[in-house]
Amino acid sequence: MSLHNLNGLIKQTESRASQMLQQLKSQGIHHPALLAKMGNIPREKFVEPAFSHLAYSATPLPIGRNQTISQPLTVARMSQWLLEYARLGRVLEVGTGSGYQTAILAHFFNKVHTIERQETLHKLAKQRLEEMGISNVEYLFGDGQAGWPQKIDMDAVIITAMVSKVPVALTNCLKENGILIMPISQPTPQIGCWRKEGDRWKRLAIEAAHFVPLLEGKVYA
Ligand code: SAH
Repeated sequence: MSLHNLNGLIKQTESRASQMLQQLKSQGIHHPALLAKMGNIPREKFVEPAFSHLAYSATPLPIGRNQTISQPLTVARMSQWLLEYARLGRVLEVGTGSGYQTAILAHFFNKVHTIERQETLHKLAKQRLEEMGISNVEYLFGDGQAGWPQKIDMDAVIITAMVSKVPVALTNCLKENGILIMPISQPTPQIGCWRKEGDRWKRLAIEAAHFVPLLEGKVYA
């Protein structure tokens, strides 16, 4: 590839990323550091290569193993809720997928624990983030419904696959005042944000959203 072509390609990516940011701002994403980070992460590296030209579009895209990366607005919304409501200490993410959400969490939280049930995706995401120099993430290949194997109290739990019932092992690992972000299929598909207050859950935000389902067990390679 000539230098001329490469410069063209870089300009094209930059303009797609800035269009994505404009669109996010018009949809209520206002946190400056979040917008800066999302403008900075090369989204095209997280999707299947055949879809890299669509990486900054407002649509979910394939990441392999029949799974998808959420569209930018969904990632931005969940991240903004965390930035607004959570203590940015330790976060548990269920559904590493491509690792895109993980990379954003790693930028803002001291420590990220992330679980993926598909071995291939788990390995790819780990390699991708390590190559990007991200070092405050612990990766686990397993069924996230069981929670993290060691008992660690979390400031936030974020589930990036749709649940039909609340996984108790995950809510149990939250600290008092911890934040839960979870897509739930009932009564209609939606993503919500709750704060743990003793044995009550205070709902802080909710909106309609679609996600791939949270599944049982783990899948080797
Ligand atoms: N946050 C991801 C999108 C994930 S899609 C990203 O930014 O790319 C949801 C992911 O959850 C899929 O990779 C799927 O394999 C995973 N998943 C579904 N059920 C799971 C479970 N029980 N434990 C861990 N991961 C699970």
